Amino acid sequence: MWLGLVWGFLLFSPDAPEGKTVNTPCENPPSAAPPPRSPRCPATAPLPPRPGHPPGVLPAPRTTWGLRLYFPRRRLGRVPAASGDAPPRSQATPPSPPPQGARPPAAAPRPPLPQWAGPGTRRGAEGARPAGAAGMSALEWFAHKPLGGGIFWIQERFYESGNRANIWLVRGSQRDVVIDAGLGLRSLPDYLRASGLLAPQEGAAPRPLLAVATHVHFDHSGGLQHFEEVAVHSAEAAALLRGDNYEAVTWLSDREVARPPRPGWRARHFRVPPVRPSRLLQEGDVISLGDRQLTVMHMPGHSRGSICLHDKDRKILFSGDVVYDGSMIDWLPYSRVSDYVASCQRLMELVDRGLVEKVLPGHFNIFGAERLYRLASNYISQAGVCHKVSTCAMRSIASIALRITNSRVTS
Ligand SMILES: [Zn+2]
Ligand SMILES: [Zn+2]
Repeated sequence: MWLGLVWGFLLFSPDAPEGKTVNTPCENPPSAAPPPRSPRCPATAPLPPRPGHPPGVLPAPRTTWGLRLYFPRRRLGRVPAASGDAPPRSQATPPSPPPQGARPPAAAPRPPLPQWAGPGTRRGAEGARPAGAAGMSALEWFAHKPLGGGIFWIQERFYESGNRANIWLVRGSQRDVVIDAGLGLRSLPDYLRASGLLAPQEGAAPRPLLAVATHVHFDHSGGLQHFEEVAVHSAEAAALLRGDNYEAVTWLSDREVARPPRPGWRARHFRVPPVRPSRLLQEGDVISLGDRQLTVMHMPGHSRGSICLHDKDRKILFSGDVVYDGSMIDWLPYSRVSDYVASCQRLMELVDRGLVEKVLPGHFNIFGAERLYRLASNYISQAGVCHKVSTCAMRSIASIALRITNSRVTS
């Protein structure tokens, strides 16, 4: 039976979901051949090739094999520091993938990407010390890139996985908000303070900081433990409060973490700790930052408490894992295809009504309204009976694997 389960899991790998076009990560050459589709379901029209991405986006993915649960086969390179020790891959000529399981040579010369600010920008500041017995500092672990308009894009530099979540800092006149918090292997608030991202304007008092989780999956919620004020949708509040790593779909391997945060750290010890949310969110709630309002949209499907945050005035959507420029994951324990279809219909309505111009997603790169519409409509078009059957099988396998992996927490 186990052999059958494993084979079933690999066959139903979401790299090639039923009838779904898999979007190549942003640095793949546009001419790359499309991935194979399952012959069991009708094919849908492939998404058009994406235009070139601006410099400074995520490094290219690498191909890996093995048991894959979440964003399989995608391993992203390290987010570069401004003048750090992790130069990025070349954007113009992506190198061929390394042998399976191998890492690229550390000494490979690559040009720096100054758009990402990291430890090299504030040497001498607190936390910029070399990793020693106490481990890596927050300033070393994270990097950020200002997007303008009071928004900063933050990532965990040494978490080299397709599961690496985007973290967004949104500054307001009366409150700052962090949208998603990463793994939590280092303190994100420490990084924000040490890098000057929370500095008040001259003469002004420091503003309160609220962390909002778009959902409780481990790659978004692990860092909530470091914040005093935390908001999450009510449907997932209990899971966050009890530290339910089954619902958090915790799945982390040593080889995804290029540099351990401290000596002796092992991925198998990673858990999302219990966090008591200070604010429960519902559909239609408005998070006020003073001069900016974020409206909560409950968009279940990927998880039962997934939310998007909509800045209506600026037509920006923080989409979490509801939609990103890649294959949507709808086969996790609390995923539901019918809910996902309804959420995608709402996304299409936002575009139809001209309410979104820019999407800041939970993974991968920023995209626009047209791409949002295509991603949402493509999902709906392939979410038929055949797809539901395959996701049901995959959910069964994933649930078993997650139960075993997180048995110490859930039992
Ligand atoms: Zn997720
Ligand atoms: Zn995620």
